[in-house]
Amino acid sequence: MAKAISCMVCGNSVPVPRGLLIHGFLLCRACEDRIKNISPGDPDYGFYMNGLKKIWCSRGA
Ligand SMILES: [Zn+2]
Repeated sequence: MAKAISCMVCGNSVPVPRGLLIHGFLLCRACEDRIKNISPGDPDYGFYMNGLKKIWCSRGA
């Protein structure tokens, strides 16, 4: 049965097999592609980096 998880970055609900799971946290394909191509000058850079930080900060607990 498909289980949906909210993307840690954009909050979209994504079926797990279609997203990327990092240490149990979901990054959807849209965010994954965005982050791969984003540059520090992009207006959305901070938004995506904050989302990633949430993932990195949660993993060591
Ligand atoms: Zn996302």
